[in-house]
Amino acid sequence: MYRAQPNTDAIKDITTTMTQPFDKNHAQSLNRDAHSEALSYEAQNNLPTKRVGILGGGTAGATIAIRLAALGLETYLFEKKKSLIDGPPMCHLHAGGNLYREIPDEDCVALLKQCIDILRLYPHTIDVRPTVFAVPTRDEGLPEDLLPRLDILTNAYQEMIEQDANNKVLGEPADYYQLYSHDQLIELSEREQVAVPSTVDEWMIPVAKYLDLNKVKFPLIVVQEYGWNIFRLAASATLALEEYDHAHVFTNTAVQKVVPVDCENCTNADHHVTKWRIDYQPENTSQPESIEVDYLVNACGFRTGVIDDMVGVEVTRMVEFKSSYVTHWGEAGGQIPEIIIYGQRGTPEGMAQLTPYPGGYFQIHGMSKAITLFDDGLVASSTDSAQPKLPQQYVHYIEDGWDKAPLQARSQQAIEYVAEFVPTFNSARTVGNALYGGQQIPGQDDTLRVADVSLYSNIRYARAENVKASSTLIAADQIVNELTELGLINNDTPMNRSRYAHEWSYLVHNDSVAVDKVARVLAEQRGFPIAMADVNRSICDAALNDLSSADA
Ligand SMILES: Cc1cc2nc3c(=O)[nH]c(=O)nc-3n(C[C@H](O)[C@H](O)[C@H](O)COP(=O)(O)OP(=O)(O)OC[C@H]3O[C@@H](n4cnc5c(N)ncnc54)[C@H](O)[C@@H]3O)c2cc1C
Repeated sequence: MYRAQPNTDAIKDITTTMTQPFDKNHAQSLNRDAHSEALSYEAQNNLPTKRVGILGGGTAGATIAIRLAALGLETYLFEKKKSLIDGPPMCHLHAGGNLYREIPDEDCVALLKQCIDILRLYPHTIDVRPTVFAVPTRDEGLPEDLLPRLDILTNAYQEMIEQDANNKVLGEPADYYQLYSHDQLIELSEREQVAVPSTVDEWMIPVAKYLDLNKVKFPLIVVQEYGWNIFRLAASATLALEEYDHAHVFTNTAVQKVVPVDCENCTNADHHVTKWRIDYQPENTSQPESIEVDYLVNACGFRTGVIDDMVGVEVTRMVEFKSSYVTHWGEAGGQIPEIIIYGQRGTPEGMAQLTPYPGGYFQIHGMSKAITLFDDGLVASSTDSAQPKLPQQYVHYIEDGWDKAPLQARSQQAIEYVAEFVPTFNSARTVGNALYGGQQIPGQDDTLRVADVSLYSNIRYARAENVKASSTLIAADQIVNELTELGLINNDTPMNRSRYAHEWSYLVHNDSVAVDKVARVLAEQRGFPIAMADVNRSICDAALNDLSSADA
């Protein structure tokens, strides 16, 4: 028998170090309400108290934990870092995946659906500002090449809204994308920039003023693809899990070993595992602790191979180390859209991405080996191990942070990369931090962008392997189906089968202000400007504005 207590220190840290007062009594009373709702759900549905152990508290682990905890399962989430969702970033909600010219249309439709779903769970994490796609004159492609795909996506979005009006989170389908000619841009460049744009024309004024119009082909394409904020996502997941007493979150806790407890035919290929033991090491304790669970989920991100090796499953995968850089540009003169300049990945002219945050902060990706990609940054698993081995330098960056000099050099190169197309961006300054990490890519195709989970029913083991953060709810759904098949969820209700039946209780009890507070603390703890924890315009504001303009 074991005894394990959830380590809620990180959450306590967050609530006690908040810059603004936090009403703990209020939060506790909300937790009690949520708990009694969860208990009554369990009681009503006669759910067994089965335990699921989830290793890794990134987007995948945290999202799967929320989905399972909402069903009343005893959920144990282990994260070795101080707080949840502090791995590689998510900066764009890839609704439609227009960033990837090379992926198939059906993957783009899958991404669109996943993004809309995840947005309904995490509505306070999105920055509603359009994305402008430009094909540079040096590129062989044409803007028109993208239009058939955009029409497919517009139709898919329209269909999703017809199925469920709540899916309308990317504006009107008819406005999903728009084209801007050279003449329109010249005209817009003469208009005064507005600090807070409310129409697509207003969003395009700074693009017309700052983009070097001689270096891009026309039309420019403006798509309703939005920003995605990692600090707000971490805050939302933290608040969501606080709602359930049976969601046990162990931060600062590294899992050291997993061992099958109950294993039939363990010496041959037909073996069955019905229980796993998780050995973990909470920080600041000398003794490792253990817990037994009925189902094991490996959500260790780029380190999933370490657990695969312990479990004994053979997997082929890649891991890629990538980095984006945080800069400040005081001359932006107000909000601007995300600007994407297409280019061939991995070449010195790879895609440039300028991602705006509030307060004049900008994140830059440059898909060249001098900026976001690294010469030896893509590694594959071997026949000996499911865990690809990143060069030690990148493991050191992931574990201890970037070294100052190379970070400064790459950040400056990133500024110059963007300045080729946005000349006044030359005045931007580096901020001394980056959003980066190792990303796992299942299989052997490094262009894969849509993947979710692999299930091993006979050993009650699942491995989350989302390449993009938006795929995590699909992974959670598949695990719920698997738990139902295995009889670990003993009733098959609409709520189990469809997450649309949920009213996520944290959303009932927390608004965007509650998310703001936690997100700001997390940004500061992680060494980023606090302004980066905010969004310029949230989905909820956008929905309210739509409502008021309809009412007017
Ligand atoms: C530069 C960059 C930009 C990106 N931009 C986007 C984007 O714009 N949009 C998008 O959707 N996706 C983006 N991604 C991809 C996205 O970051 C990943 O899909 C996502 O973070 C993966 O989440 P995860 O939970 O699977 O893994 P991670 O976030 O890596 O989480 C795994 C967690 O497991 C923990 N862990 C590992 N081993 C143990 C252990 N033994 N014990 C306890 N804990 C452990 C780790 O500390 C970590 O927190 C980007 C990736 C990179 C590198």
